[in-house]
Amino acid sequence: MAKTISILGSTGSIGTNAIQVVHALGKEYQIDYLSANTNADKLIEQALTLRPKAVCIADEPYADKVTAALQSESISVYSGRDGLLELASQKADVVLNGLVGSSGMEPTLAAIESGIDVALSNKESLVMAGKLIQEAKAKSGSKIFPVDSEHSAIWQCLTGETMDDVKKLILTGSGGPFRERDVKTFPTITADEALDHPNWEMGKKITIDSATMMNKGLEVIEAHWLFNVNADDIEIIIHPQSIVHSMVEFSDGSVKAQLGVPDMKIPIQYALTYPHHAPSNWESLDLLTNSELTFHAPDFERFPCIQLAYDALKNGGTYPAVLNVANEEAVYRFLDGSISFTDIPRIIESACASHEYSDDPGLDLILQIERWTKEFVVNFRP
Ligand code: MG
Repeated sequence: MAKTISILGSTGSIGTNAIQVVHALGKEYQIDYLSANTNADKLIEQALTLRPKAVCIADEPYADKVTAALQSESISVYSGRDGLLELASQKADVVLNGLVGSSGMEPTLAAIESGIDVALSNKESLVMAGKLIQEAKAKSGSKIFPVDSEHSAIWQCLTGETMDDVKKLILTGSGGPFRERDVKTFPTITADEALDHPNWEMGKKITIDSATMMNKGLEVIEAHWLFNVNADDIEIIIHPQSIVHSMVEFSDGSVKAQLGVPDMKIPIQYALTYPHHAPSNWESLDLLTNSELTFHAPDFERFPCIQLAYDALKNGGTYPAVLNVANEEAVYRFLDGSISFTDIPRIIESACASHEYSDDPGLDLILQIERWTKEFVVNFRP
């Protein structure tokens, strides 16, 4: 029997890479469900090629178009927010969540509550609702397989190890495009400059997060929930070449690292084939042409988002959800030109400080906080 896969966010960067991975893996893997947000044409094209059981178009206005294209093909069409949650709960061996931002949280929860394993690229799920997701996992027995390259690296380094022996996790980050730019010019950074990432090809939201280094901050929170390690034992190291994907230091001083070319297909594939490293034709690492690997301390003053994320994790409760949503909305405001690059951390800090804190939020409160934070950012006058 083939291993069945649901791909949420199939038309995005992670989704299209995942389809390539599944295709290359061959007959033992089969895509049963696909979802897209607004890209109806690409979703239809994927559905006609891959022949899934069902698809979901999350943005309702496109539902008629997708239904018209697929109704004679015996491919069911779900739509809207509820449709997405229903699709995420459909029986499959693994749901690959490649959705962007906080919209990925509820589908992660829905899959886990339905007893389905999740290959998780959507780090915002854990940032927003790490505790709820852990509780749901404990109840249903579902597992989370990290897709984020750093967390895939840590997961691989921890294979065969005992958490009691771990001293700290070391998350590497490229430092983004502004690692060496004169900090005095940060207020004039344009969206185009921020979208030009030196190593990784990714969607817009995560590329801006890499430029502000909030991506690394969110990854600290993600690592906390995935591996149950405290903020103080998660370190960030800047590694501009993006070859060492992360490391684990053990009690005896031994350090394990995972290396590879910066290509998301490798961690996506491992999340699908775990515990095996299946054969692939992806470019392999040539250390002789990548012989210079350098490491630097992160600059917390240049990139205030990193500290904001550590603080949110330490403060706990509703802080990480506010941090995440404020960041997301601020990124969209930066992309549409209504705020500057340096306004992003200012807005996040202000939202975190202004929100009504709760130490143990349930799903309803998290969703309420999400709405509050969106409104806060939309109304923020820089
Ligand atoms: Mg990452």
